[in-house]
Amino acid sequence: MTVLSRGGIKIESVACPYCEKQNHTSNPRIMAACAYCGNRFAQANTDYQELVIIDRRLENAGGVVDDLMAKWRQAGELDKEAIVDRRVELSGYAGPERRLSPAPVAS
Ligand SMILES: [Zn+2]
Repeated sequence: MTVLSRGGIKIESVACPYCEKQNHTSNPRIMAACAYCGNRFAQANTDYQELVIIDRRLENAGGVVDDLMAKWRQAGELDKEAIVDRRVELSGYAGPERRLSPAPVAS
């Protein structure tokens, strides 16, 4: 993941886990659609791990995770991990998608 700065806003470049094209975002942690293939993903990195979060509404999301993990293991990219998004309850939430609206930032 590379980080650019444009007009004071940090723009990060993240690879789509489905089509591998580079997407640019100011916040990769927010689940968003790929600009190329339209499938949704998020990415949360720590110092030692690159965590790719797959849209749970995707058909066969678990299979996508398994395929990505197998591909990365084979490529020796052991710092990468794919998971299915569990940040919002799978049921019982009927409102608009909370994660599409980032939390307000104190100024
Ligand atoms: Zn894509």
